[in-house]
Amino acid sequence: MICEFCGGKTIKKKVRKVHWLQRQLYIVDDVEAEVCQECGERYYHATTLDAIDHALAAGRQVVKERLQVQVVGMPA
Ligand SMILES: [Zn+2]
Repeated sequence: MICEFCGGKTIKKKVRKVHWLQRQLYIVDDVEAEVCQECGERYYHATTLDAIDHALAAGRQVVKERLQVQVVGMPA
């Protein structure tokens, strides 16, 4: 497809996606996306996003790793 932002061409790729569901943050590997070769913008199919939501809501995910995350302010 063609990128909405820069008009560049996208290619299909598996990416690591940051995904929120019910105030929980997940990092999901191997998510299929269209990635713009020019600006890096990612596009996901609605069906892909729904599949992630459903898998997480049903607890069907495979936990590979648990990370600790810091929420920080912009450094002065
Ligand atoms: Zn682009």
